[in-house]
Amino acid sequence: MPGSPPRPCRAPMCAGKTTHKHGYCDTHADQAVTWKKPAHKKSGRGGRPWRRIRERILQRDKGLCQPCLRKGIYTPAAEVDHIVNEASGGTDVDDNLEAICNPCHKAKTQEEARRGRGVDA
Ligand SMILES: [Zn+2]
Ligand SMILES: [Zn+2]
Repeated sequence: MPGSPPRPCRAPMCAGKTTHKHGYCDTHADQAVTWKKPAHKKSGRGGRPWRRIRERILQRDKGLCQPCLRKGIYTPAAEVDHIVNEASGGTDVDDNLEAICNPCHKAKTQEEARRGRGVDA
């Protein structure tokens, strides 16, 4: 980038300045080799760490299927589901997620698929 101002070198105690992208002066450029940006893996969910979200929701809901719990049934949850599904504008916020068991999840997915196809409409 032309015109980008020199920044202080990232190396500790170095008074040097640099215009390098890695942020080290020429003397310390070798240190930049080990410094890497954390890789942003595409998880297919907008880069959000779904596994961690999932664990958090399962913990919050005490590992119990919430739709079952509302009916007074205690079923161990196997999944974390979007209350408002992503196709309908739902997001990965905690409020839109709940623990769910496989049968409930399947039923909900089928229900959503049916509505999506407009068979009932
Ligand atoms: Zn330096
Ligand atoms: Zn259930």
